[in-house]
Amino acid sequence: MLADKDRIFRNLYGFHDASLKGALKRGAWDGTKLFIDKGHDWIINEVKASGLRGRGGAGFPTGLKWSFMPKADPRPSYLVINGDESEPGSCKDREILRHDAHLLLEGALIASFAMRAHTCYIYLRGEYIREREALQRAVDEAYEARLIGKNNVHGWDFDVYVHHGAGAYICGEETALLESLEGKKGQPRLKPPFPANVGLYGAPTTINNVESIAVVPDILRRGPTWFSGLGKPNNTGTKLFQISGHVERPCVVEEEMGIPLRDLIEKHCGGVRGGWKNLLAVIPGGSSVPLVPAELCDDLGMDFDSLQKVKSGLGTAAVIVMDKSADPIKAIARISYFYKHESCGQCTPCREGTGWMWRVLERMAEGHAEKHEIDLLFEVSKQVEGHTICALGDAAAWPVQGLIRHFRPLIEARIDQYQRAHRDAAE
Ligand code: SF4
Repeated sequence: MLADKDRIFRNLYGFHDASLKGALKRGAWDGTKLFIDKGHDWIINEVKASGLRGRGGAGFPTGLKWSFMPKADPRPSYLVINGDESEPGSCKDREILRHDAHLLLEGALIASFAMRAHTCYIYLRGEYIREREALQRAVDEAYEARLIGKNNVHGWDFDVYVHHGAGAYICGEETALLESLEGKKGQPRLKPPFPANVGLYGAPTTINNVESIAVVPDILRRGPTWFSGLGKPNNTGTKLFQISGHVERPCVVEEEMGIPLRDLIEKHCGGVRGGWKNLLAVIPGGSSVPLVPAELCDDLGMDFDSLQKVKSGLGTAAVIVMDKSADPIKAIARISYFYKHESCGQCTPCREGTGWMWRVLERMAEGHAEKHEIDLLFEVSKQVEGHTICALGDAAAWPVQGLIRHFRPLIEARIDQYQRAHRDAAE
């Protein structure tokens, strides 16, 4: 288990003072000026050396992403922090926003300086009303104490704007988020050009997740070797895990990357409802990743590479646990409905495919389908995956593929059962 001394978020549960005074006591804003004095490249190299990978789902190396920003460009550069957090199961960033917002603001200043940006936008999910209030309080305190703003104590002019979204899932996609920030309909942009070249208002922009930015000050304070010493090679550091569903005590917890799933559930959540043997499957990284059946969960490590090996993903590390009382076909049908509802409608495979997959799954949940439709459904999901402007198409396809990969016998049995029942009724 992660030692208390290695925790980055020391007020995750809001038991302590979330104000600037409390944050300073916990070490926030300590030595920030020293980091800035060491220069843009020093910060980027430290973050690269720590092995930090983005915490928003894709797991792209953060330092490398920062290094894509132009060094001499007449246009302004922007840092945009993605606090949209709309992936079903995900609820970690809200704890940072509510209780440890100064770590985020300090990280925002450091990251912006590293990328030569003087302005940062923090885009929050529409439903996060209290979170916005808490964050705005922290922003106001930081301005007041001249930690940020023009002529601040750190010597790098820096403004932060908190922007409240209107509650659309797709605005968590980085380019849709930029459109929304610009006041347009939140629809993803075609890439290239990538935001580091043409981003917000046509200027170089980097979009990072809340957690990715909030861990940066501690990486610099404690050193990249400390961070990379936690977790596993290529999957370093600590991570906020969010466990929901059929466990005794759902929670958000900071743990070492790579922690075995079983430890995570048994040590922090009081175990699976009815015991480990009652586990049916988990969705390990938010609703968009394929589920993993119980038989693969015994020694499963919770990190990017281990989950990729079982054809799933760490995503946002939002673990949704299903015990044997769950109906996986119905669960995936419900997830399919979500993606159908949230599709922005720009591309045909996503707009039409998500609805089609949902309708077939609803029938399969009842058993009202033909067995050959299972392969057809898989085939259609493959036609959606990788053929769309943004990753929502993949997010809609992967859960369906996971279901078919691991629960085909159940789908077939349900079809048999339905056909038997209707034959008997007809006779
Ligand atoms: Fe819109 Fe779906 Fe295409 Fe993404 S994949 S741009 S959500 S239609």
